[in-house]
Amino acid sequence: MPADFHVHSSYSFDSDSPLSAYLDRENHLLLTTDHLELANSVDDGRDDVPDFAEIARQMEFIRQESGDAGLETVVGAEVGYCREHLGRLEELVATDGIALRLLSFHAYQGHDWIETEAHASMGDDDYAKAYFDLVLEGVERLGGQAQVLAHLDYPFRYRPSIDSRVLFRRFGGRIRAIIDACDRQGLVVELNTKSMYTYGRETFYDLLLETIAGRDDGGRPVPVCLGSDCHPAGNWHAGFDRAAGLAASHGLKPLDWVDMRGRLTR
Ligand SMILES: [Zn+2]
Ligand SMILES: [Zn+2]
Repeated sequence: MPADFHVHSSYSFDSDSPLSAYLDRENHLLLTTDHLELANSVDDGRDDVPDFAEIARQMEFIRQESGDAGLETVVGAEVGYCREHLGRLEELVATDGIALRLLSFHAYQGHDWIETEAHASMGDDDYAKAYFDLVLEGVERLGGQAQVLAHLDYPFRYRPSIDSRVLFRRFGGRIRAIIDACDRQGLVVELNTKSMYTYGRETFYDLLLETIAGRDDGGRPVPVCLGSDCHPAGNWHAGFDRAAGLAASHGLKPLDWVDMRGRLTR
């Protein structure tokens, strides 16, 4: 089973799962990616900044208790891009002790995309365009400090009326520009299995994989990885076999832990 590169523990504002729930004995790995989100509109506007040093201490304790001398611990963060507080975000992202950074785009103009009322006045095209422009900007600004672009379909989770095929027809050029920017910045593209199988966006990822596999990139494919985005640990690795099968149908293989390890900052 490939490693799960997107998981939330009780160090995230929206999860109660203990760190120890993510002890991956098969990969000899303990890895989490808790939310680093400034002015978080779905948490009363708080700055959610996990105590990464404390996570590292707790992971070390779990490692010693595990009886697995080869267990590796990885303190990660899911970094929510925030155009309005970019300077402060850039400083926090550079915090020592974060080894893996997922780059996410949860909010637009101060409101998470999950707050559907806040974005209700935007038509589907404006909605998609605003989002993809934001992603391109964020990948250019922060991508060099991150390792993974998370859930590229995120806002479409909350507008199920937008068809993935229509999206790729209308915005295929922008999506290709985002993939090219990921390539330049060394970002791995996440296949988010929560989006695929909880929110029914498998077709979005099928088309994304087709875009990645079909790039004229001189033989250097943009790598992909799997993330369950689990908040309750019960969803850890959910849908991985099916998502890996989808990637394989495009000739792509999600990165395993050993592949990812070389990309981390220490
Ligand atoms: Zn997220
Ligand atoms: Zn997440």
